[in-house]
Amino acid sequence: MTLDLTKIRADFPILSRKVNGQPLVYLDNAATSQTPKQVIDVIADYYQRYNANIHRGVHTLSQEATDKFEEARKTVQDHFGIEKTHEIIFTPGTTHSINLVAFGFGSLLKTGDEVIVSALEHHANIVPWQMMCERSGAILRVIPMTDAGTLDMKAYDKLLNDKTKLVFVNHVSNALGTINPIEEIIEKAHAIGAAVLVDGAQACGHIKPNLQKLNVDFYTVSAHKLCGPTGVGILYGKEHWLKKLPPYQGGGEMIDEVTFEKTTYADLPHKFEAGTPNICGGIAFGAALNYMNAVGFEAIGAYEDELLKNATDRLSKIEGLRIYGETERKTAVISFNIDDIHPYDIGTLLDKMGIAVRTGHHCAQPIMDYYKIPGTVRASFAFYNTLEEVDQFVNGVQKATDMLR
Ligand SMILES: *Cc1c(COP(=O)(O)O)cnc(C)c1O
Repeated sequence: MTLDLTKIRADFPILSRKVNGQPLVYLDNAATSQTPKQVIDVIADYYQRYNANIHRGVHTLSQEATDKFEEARKTVQDHFGIEKTHEIIFTPGTTHSINLVAFGFGSLLKTGDEVIVSALEHHANIVPWQMMCERSGAILRVIPMTDAGTLDMKAYDKLLNDKTKLVFVNHVSNALGTINPIEEIIEKAHAIGAAVLVDGAQACGHIKPNLQKLNVDFYTVSAHKLCGPTGVGILYGKEHWLKKLPPYQGGGEMIDEVTFEKTTYADLPHKFEAGTPNICGGIAFGAALNYMNAVGFEAIGAYEDELLKNATDRLSKIEGLRIYGETERKTAVISFNIDDIHPYDIGTLLDKMGIAVRTGHHCAQPIMDYYKIPGTVRASFAFYNTLEEVDQFVNGVQKATDMLR
């Protein structure tokens, strides 16, 4: 189960570049992951050999592109344990996927219905629902968080009632790394007849969920968080929900028949795939899943836990450093501050040393408000990071702190 780090790192050309004269230490994987040459090659191959629009053409290139695109949908299906291929909608990513569902529920819900969000969400899983509530008159309720950066599940129990129609939570918090108890959240929501959407953007590069077993109603993924390209992802939805939801965008590819009197819509998944999709992106998404599965999610999880534990132990020894999000169930994300030093100043000094971290509110302002801080420094690890990089990072943080104190 051990990873061959030398071999893995050789797959990622970007990891051997320098930044500000120093070897790059890339610790911003929660924002976007890096891309292995196996995936870059698939992208180049598409444009060099069979770039064509799909579904519409009789010619060979169009057929080849269509076949590869649909093959990628099958890869997604196998990876996530999805029952039916047409329950997978290719989208530009998680943000778009959530907006698609929120738009649809805007016409299914009515005044007085309740929907539940969690305090640990990315703005992508908050704002579309606020817009949906404005349109439908539904009421937004919030599962509060605890100091440890976990959800208050007793409060969740109290929020659920016969007016609750929908619950939306992330699988993993991008700001803190907390893995939410989505099994329990789904089971309890279903017990009172509410549907559940899980934002899987932050989980998908670290955890391999089986969506059929989870019995989740909707699940969203962004390919760029699992070694794929930006601008492509999926919405998974149970067939009966996708049939019930109205189309999100009108255009080509999503229709059955168009006249000026009336248009009828195409079957799933095309009903939700208006216009030319990100064909190359979809194919590369499949390649990224194949790459990660060849490495193995179990090995990835175990190794990233080791990186997390090592980095957490060593960082904690720095005087005045506070880590936000201290639960056993988390992915390799460390959000922290040191005394009242501004996170941006630490991030800037780390960048001078070639170390990439993210600073700010991480698109999760409610979490920052809870802790009464403007933001954090966030280091997020992937399976291609090394223990030597953890060293460089911890030393860098110590150095930056000494300079700023
Ligand atoms: C990255 C991320 C998103 C947004 O994904 P996009 O690819 O930018 O649409 C949403 N939620 C979480 C938890 C994320 O980590």
